[in-house]
Amino acid sequence: MDKIYKKNLFGLSIDEIQTIADENGWPSYRGAQIFRWVYQGVADIDEMSNLPLSAREALKKQYQIFHLQIIKKIEEKKTKTTKYLLRTEDDLLIEAVLLRYRHGNSLCVSSQAGCSMACVFCASATGGLKRNLSAAEMLSQVYVVERDTGQKISNVVMMGSGEPLDNYENTIGFLNLISDKDTRNLSKRNITLSTCGIADKIVLLADSKTGVNLSVSLHSPFQDQREMMMPVAKNFPLEKLMEACSYYVQKTKRRITFEYALIAGVNDTLGHGQALAQLLRGLNCLVNLIPINQASNPTLKSSNDEAIAAFAEILTKKHINTTVRRTLGSSINAACGQLKSGFYKEV
Ligand code: SF4
Repeated sequence: MDKIYKKNLFGLSIDEIQTIADENGWPSYRGAQIFRWVYQGVADIDEMSNLPLSAREALKKQYQIFHLQIIKKIEEKKTKTTKYLLRTEDDLLIEAVLLRYRHGNSLCVSSQAGCSMACVFCASATGGLKRNLSAAEMLSQVYVVERDTGQKISNVVMMGSGEPLDNYENTIGFLNLISDKDTRNLSKRNITLSTCGIADKIVLLADSKTGVNLSVSLHSPFQDQREMMMPVAKNFPLEKLMEACSYYVQKTKRRITFEYALIAGVNDTLGHGQALAQLLRGLNCLVNLIPINQASNPTLKSSNDEAIAAFAEILTKKHINTTVRRTLGSSINAACGQLKSGFYKEV
């Protein structure tokens, strides 16, 4: 027999919770009380101590508070990066990665179970898309890790498994919830959304005024090569993508980040560097060079330190802001999809 799920209070907006209170004929302040309890992180409706027993019983008939469950944790001792494998209510496995920096804790959250974008260097792509995650499931990753560590998350990066802009409505719901002053009150400036380049949704995001930091996976300045590495490029060619990125910068007044995973002999040549500099000329942006994590695709070899430095120099000489990313978590395969793949092999 199929499991019967009660509706989850966690993930509802204040308006949705207020409607529940109104429908039950409760005083108007009751909705705000329930909302605060839910996002203070109570695990059970019975913990809402300022609600009368009758209201708690009525709520429990239809609702529950459900959070993702921790199935497994792997820590990289040197950097204290922790990868969490989490289970959804319908038994899907998703991942979140906690990165500890001097300036605070950053959590890399997943937006989908699996992913349909099929980027060649990504472990999440191998199983395809299982389903979109709800806003509650994205937010729960933050709550569960904070509860587990007893430490606050100060930055969120949407770079786990899934393409957040392929799950647009829930992603916006998540961004609104996590920045609500009565939930986690996280500044949108401390949130980075990473996309493989869904240009039309970048435009929508710019118009939505969410104001989050945008990070775009580029990986090649050439259309034909980008199509081979990232099939999404067929639907959103470089020209369209760059138009959307310029629009985002102009609308939000925020600098955009381009992620560029360096693969030896594939996209790290002088010609690639020059073409990349030309493509980004005049745009307020930062290029983040990432030595590719070979665990995600053993056939791809990371550029060596000399090649990375030479590539960075081409860009900086053309006045393109450039950094090389520290690879936290490489020993625990902290790239999307990898812990889950390992877990499936073990069971
Ligand atoms: S890199 Fe991101 S968009 Fe591409 S397949 Fe992996 S999770 Fe999906």
